[in-house]
Amino acid sequence: MSCPTCGKAFAAAASRALPFCSDRCRLIDLKRWLGEEHGLPLAGGGEDEWA
Ligand SMILES: [Zn+2]
Repeated sequence: MSCPTCGKAFAAAASRALPFCSDRCRLIDLKRWLGEEHGLPLAGGGEDEWA
C-alpha cells in the first residue's frame, strides 16, 4: 500500500502507524488536519517539503 502523506509504497505489516508508513507521516497528517480545523494558513503547494 502507499502512504497517504508521502505517497511512498510500504509494507503494511511493517508499519506501526497504519495507514501511514511511519509515525512521522501520521503526525504530519494530524498536524495538517489540526491546521485546517483551526483555519491556520498553510504554505501552498508545500507537500514536497516534507519528503
Ligand atoms: Zn509516509
